[in-house]
Amino acid sequence: MTKNCWICGGIADSAEHRLKKSDLVRAHGRGPYVGSSELLHFRAGKQTQIQGPGSKTVKYAPNLCQYCNSTYTQPFDRAYDQFIDWAMSNEELVLRRRFIDFEEVFGDGWETLQRNLYKYFAKSFGCRLVDAGVSVPEDMVELLGKERFRTGLRLSFAVNEDILLIPHKYRHGFIGKADLFSWGPRESTVPPESFTWNEHVSWLTACYWYNRAVDGVYGSEWVADAKVVYFGSFAPLDENSRAEFIEKTKSLDESKGQE
Ligand SMILES: [Zn+2]
Repeated sequence: MTKNCWICGGIADSAEHRLKKSDLVRAHGRGPYVGSSELLHFRAGKQTQIQGPGSKTVKYAPNLCQYCNSTYTQPFDRAYDQFIDWAMSNEELVLRRRFIDFEEVFGDGWETLQRNLYKYFAKSFGCRLVDAGVSVPEDMVELLGKERFRTGLRLSFAVNEDILLIPHKYRHGFIGKADLFSWGPRESTVPPESFTWNEHVSWLTACYWYNRAVDGVYGSEWVADAKVVYFGSFAPLDENSRAEFIEKTKSLDESKGQE
């Protein structure tokens, strides 16, 4: 079935990565992922081997046109890469301070570039909504072309403390996206208009709040309007699972850690 590009309405002939190619390459190299560097993808309880960073497994069904997925949104993708590269290579500093100053990440052009970063997340969220059969809200489509905008999409960043338990060299390869949640009255006949979602590279978790107030535990609210964002903190594992997990990561470090 041919779909339309959710940004411009043209024919959707381009597939956005479910897991960003540059994130895969940063963590796992350019592939092919075979032998000792075999890479597995877990989704909805199903396990698939990924052959390389361009694998179909890590892409959505086409929901953008070539132009929108490349030329139009390229500055957004670049800002994202710059942001993640900076955060990962300054991991110790970020984790100690628990905030990010966009001027440190982007330099003089930080104001525009933090907006582009925000637009990358809007693109990522839009693709996730379409994948779930939800049409992307108008305000999210429109903001991509604007410098000033009003939108229901709020973001925050949080540290996943459980992922921090994984030894450094393993957690870098831990990239993923959570389930999408929609919020509304149980008996509602209209489609849901409120969503939460998150995705992560290692411990760095981007939290999405559409038409829903940001829970401050997950960091300070950011709508492309700040120089500094403060990180929240969460630990999804309960105490028992956390203790078990700590034991497991110990053995992981002992058996494979000596290279
Ligand atoms: Zn398009």
